[in-house]
Amino acid sequence: MQLKLPIKFIVILTTWLACLSAAESRAAQFTVVLDPGHSPKSPGAISARGVPEVDFNDKLTAAIAKELNKDPRFKVEITRGPKKNLPLKKRARLINALDPDLVLSIHHDSVQPHFLKPWELDGQILSYSDRFSGFSLFVPAKGYYAPLSKRAATLMADGLHEIGLSFASYHAQAIPGESRKWLDSARGIYAGDFLYLARTIKRPFVLFEAGVLVNRAEEERLSDSKQIKKMAGAIVKSIRDLACQFERDRRTRD
Ligand SMILES: [Zn+2]
Repeated sequence: MQLKLPIKFIVILTTWLACLSAAESRAAQFTVVLDPGHSPKSPGAISARGVPEVDFNDKLTAAIAKELNKDPRFKVEITRGPKKNLPLKKRARLINALDPDLVLSIHHDSVQPHFLKPWELDGQILSYSDRFSGFSLFVPAKGYYAPLSKRAATLMADGLHEIGLSFASYHAQAIPGESRKWLDSARGIYAGDFLYLARTIKRPFVLFEAGVLVNRAEEERLSDSKQIKKMAGAIVKSIRDLACQFERDRRTRD
């Protein structure tokens, strides 16, 4: 019996094999810089239960790095260790010097201060807002690497959607401190040119806000080790898909 395969299927199969062979080659390593947002000295947002954002960023970064390091195709660099302080300008210089294929800055979100309300937990008065939830992705809308950055964010948004997560739309709302510009309102991708790193990094760049820490239910999810692993798995799958796309583009050019 003669097996006839449609041309489209043959192209997909060839691409998949090309990605596999790239995975075996050190020369084709895809360098990913993971940049856990903030530092112990300036820890970012404070969660509804009083935990600093930097702790969440470090945990998610470690989970993503662990998953990426299982694949020999990837070389993983992390800008800052869990106890280290590294100012933003030094981060940018370090990242550009590493000349990576992708930069992923990892953060957790808050809301504008006027939405916060007080609540008491274990005798401590803390701030929360259950009004908003979900992840957000910020990429440069201008510059040479804008299209590749958006492509990376698109794969990440789709991967996060596949594991049942929703994106936050409040950054685009006409509220003081927000009114951010959508790049893809169906996927939670915003123009991030107002961010120092998005303007300064000379490589494909995505800033990932994994969820809203001041939302009490969302904080529970973001603290759960199984959920962190699941989210890291979705991000790594999207980076793997991106590496395959880059490899396919390179082979098309060669
Ligand atoms: Zn942050």
